[in-house]
Amino acid sequence: MTLKTDSRNVLAGLDAGGTTFKCGLATADGKLITQERFPVSTPAETIASCVDFFRTRANAAGQTISALGIASFGPINIDATSPDYGTILNTPKPGWSNTNLRRAFADALKVPVTVDTDVNGALAAELAWGAAKGVSSAAYVTVGTGIGAGICSGGTFAAAPLHPEFGHISMKRHADDAAFAGTCSFHGDCLEGLASAAAFMARFGDPRYLDENHAGWAVEADYLAQACLSLSLSFRPQRIILGGGLMLAPHLIQMTRDAYQKKMAGYLGETEEEIEQKIVTPGLGDDAGLLGGIKLAIDLN
Ligand code: ZN
Repeated sequence: MTLKTDSRNVLAGLDAGGTTFKCGLATADGKLITQERFPVSTPAETIASCVDFFRTRANAAGQTISALGIASFGPINIDATSPDYGTILNTPKPGWSNTNLRRAFADALKVPVTVDTDVNGALAAELAWGAAKGVSSAAYVTVGTGIGAGICSGGTFAAAPLHPEFGHISMKRHADDAAFAGTCSFHGDCLEGLASAAAFMARFGDPRYLDENHAGWAVEADYLAQACLSLSLSFRPQRIILGGGLMLAPHLIQMTRDAYQKKMAGYLGETEEEIEQKIVTPGLGDDAGLLGGIKLAIDLN
C-alpha cells in the first residue's frame, strides 16, 4: 500500500452553463490538469456524464478528489445554511427546476461540494489569477444568452447569501432603438432584454457575421456603458470585467469604454487610460467559469 500524499489530491471544478457543463481537475494551486465538456440534456444524464468524468480521470491518474466547486447558471440557491443549498430554482430550462446540483454530486462523489453562481465563480477566478488580480473590488458581467453580474468587495460577494439580479435593471432607451420591445419575459426592455446576445440577435442578426461598423454595435455599447455606469456609481469597483459570448466581438469593449466616458461626463474624474484599465475583458478567457469552480473548491478546503 502506498501512502497518500498531497500531490495525489486534486480539486474538481464544474462550470455548469446553460448549454454546456465543463468539468476539470486541478492541482491544489489551481493549475488545470484535465478538462472535458458535456452538452446539457436532462439533469440525470448530464450529471452522470460529469460524475463519470471525475471518477475515471482521477482514478486513471491515481488521484483522489478532495473537493468539488460548482459555478452554475441560475437562478440557484447559494445559501450554505439553507436545506435547499445548491438547488436550481425556477428556470425555463426543461427538467432543471428544483434540481439540487450540490446534493447530486456530493452523493455520487462523496466529497464536500460548494456551489455559487457562474458569475461569482468567474469573478473569484479573475480576482485570483486573471484580469482582477491585485484589486480588492471588482464586478464580472456576463453578456451571453442572458446577462448576470457578480460583484465582490473586500473578499465578500454582494447580496450573499442571495445573488444580484443586475441583468434586470432598467435602461434608458437608445434613440435608434425605440421600436424594439425587448426579450425579457418579465420586463421586456431591461438590460438583459435589450443587450443580451439573444436581444442583439433578435434585431441585428448573428453578431459573428456583422461588420464592426454595423449600427447595432453602437446600440449595444450604449446599453453596456449604462450598465458600467450603474456599477461604477453604485459600487465603485476597481475593475469591471465584461465576459460572455457577445464580448468576443473585439471592437465592442472599446466602444463600450467610449460610450461610458461620454455618459459619465467626467463625474468621477477618470482619465481615458483609467477607464481602459477599469473596463476590461476576462483575463482567463473561456476557462474563467471552470477555474471559478476550482477556486470555489480551493476556498472550501
Ligand atoms: Zn428583465
